[in-house]
Formats: sequence, C-alpha cells, structure tokens
Amino acid sequence: MQNEQKYGIIILVAQKRRVYIILKRKIKYYTKEMCKLFSIMAVALGLITAIILLKYKPTYKVTLSGQEIGYVESGTEFDNRIQQEVIGMEGKNIDFVSLDEMPNYELKLVSREQETNEEEIIIALKENAKIMYKYYAVILNNETIGLVDNIEEAQESVNEIKEENKNKTIKLDLAITENYTEDINSVTLESVQVAQAKIEQKVAKLIKIDQKTKKPIVNGILLAVTPVQGRITSRFGHVSGIRSGAHTGTDIACPQGTPIKAVNSGTVTFAGWNGSYGNLIKVSHGNGVETWYAHCTELYGTVGQQVNAGDVIATVGSTGNSTGNHLHLEVRLNGKALNPQNYLYK
Ligand SMILES: [Zn+2]
Repeated sequence: MQNEQKYGIIILVAQKRRVYIILKRKIKYYTKEMCKLFSIMAVALGLITAIILLKYKPTYKVTLSGQEIGYVESGTEFDNRIQQEVIGMEGKNIDFVSLDEMPNYELKLVSREQETNEEEIIIALKENAKIMYKYYAVILNNETIGLVDNIEEAQESVNEIKEENKNKTIKLDLAITENYTEDINSVTLESVQVAQAKIEQKVAKLIKIDQKTKKPIVNGILLAVTPVQGRITSRFGHVSGIRSGAHTGTDIACPQGTPIKAVNSGTVTFAGWNGSYGNLIKVSHGNGVETWYAHCTELYGTVGQQVNAGDVIATVGSTGNSTGNHLHLEVRLNGKALNPQNYLYK
C-alpha cells in the first residue's frame, strides 16, 4: 500500500514535468515566431516610409483668409520672414505696415516635385499690406504752405524764420502738423528749402502789408497828410555827386506850382532861402518832430505861424541845388534826419 502510493506520486510528478516541458517549448516557439513577425513588419514599415519619403516631402500649405496661396518649407521661418520683410518693410516716408491677418500653415505631404514659393507669397503679402505713410504740413497763419517729409529740417526752418521775424509786428503763427496717408502718391511733397522759400515770400508780403497799413507815427506825431503826390526820384541815404553827403530826405517830382501840404498841424520854425535847399519851410509838430519842405517856388508861411494838417504851406519848384521841379521832404526827430519813406511814400 505504501509502495503503491509512492509510485503513484512519482508518476504524477513525472507527468506534471512533461506537461511543463511541453508548455515551455511551445512558449519558446511562439515567442520566436512573434519576433520574426515583428521584424518583418518593421522592415516593411521602414520600406513603406522610405518609398513615401522618396516620392513625397513634408511641406506647409499656406492659406490666407481660407484661400490657398502657396507652399513653404517652414511655417515658423516663414512667419519670421513676414515680420522682417513685410511688417518691418522700410522705405521713404513709411510710418508702419500692417497685415489684416497672418497666413495659416497646414503640414502636408506633397510630391517632391512640388516647389515651395516663398518669394511669390512675400511679394503678394507686400502688395496686400496696408502701408501708412507719414508726412508733415508747414502751416502759416492757418494756411498750408507746403508738405514735407523731413521733420527735423522743417522744425529748423520754422525756428529760423521765427527768430528772424521776432521783432516784427506781423502775425506769424508757424506750425508743423503730422499727417498720415495710405496713398503717398496723392501727396505732393517738396523739399524743406522750397517750403522755406515760400514762407519767406509770404512773410515778406505780410511785412509789406503791415508797413503799408501801419500808421506813420514819429515819436507820437502822426504824419497824417501826404504833402504832394508824385514820383520818387531820389531816396533817403542816396549818395550822388550833386550833393556833399548822403541824401537827407526824399525827392518827389511834381510840376512847378503844385501845392505842398503840411503833414500835420504845427508851428512854422523857418521860412526863407537856405543855400542849397533854396526856398525852405520848416514846421515843428512837437515831441522834437519837424518836417522840412525844400526847393519851393513860393512859401506861404511865416515863422511862428500855426498851421493845420493839410494846409498848403508852399508850392513845388526847383530853387537851390536842384536839377528839376520836385519837393525835397525831410522828417527830423530832435534834429536827426529820418527816412521819410518809413512813414510816407511806402
Ligand atoms: Zn532832395
């Protein structure tokens, strides 16, 4: 009984061992087969990939507003190019450049024969870009004088003109404004030099108008009346062989006998012959202001006589050092001769 049991166990162990060995063999076999299969699959996959890559390449399809506009090799690099070459576009008068939208990129496998067209896309984007141009307007008394593109030069010019005319009584509002346009071709720009010349011309005109409309006042005395109407034949300060020094008055040619009017009221301080002046009459208006009328034919005033503005005090002639009928008019302040044309005959 004991022995029978013993053998039984031995047989059972032996059987179990056999099953185990068989199982082990089978696992080994299948593992080997699986490895083989995976190897074949890997090689096949590699081959397929190689074949695909031989014929196709990864490329980015570029779309703008949903429309295909071309292909590029790298989306990131192309975005950089857009930033530099389109948005960062530099050029005359360009203030800034903007694109309504940036392109979209989609990775695609395309035939190796398909070429990318970065250059064309850049050109197209440049054409679609919104370019804002900046320019400046030079304005004088609310009137645009010129359009320029150099703010530094324009500012310098404006300051120069302001400095030159700072003591003048004319209205001189000079300003520079910034202006923007998308169509620079519609703007006629000119050089700052041209604009400056135009302003100077306008300023000269303003000064002339100002002088003409300004009341002719010498030290508070208004030279209200023009003594005679006529042509100026010799100006104040003129140097000529016919007299010793510079001309101390203004000569106005008139026919003999033309009435000479007093520029304003005053007292006659001289009336008579005075060497080269010929027949001379002087009127004192107060405040050290005197007017002299020379080369007269007739004198109507006497020393100490009061005259009113516009009174006829003499007639035109050619007495004394004179080469023809004219009034020699002098305006004197405290004895010093002033240029009559600063006040009359402007
Ligand atoms: Zn003279």
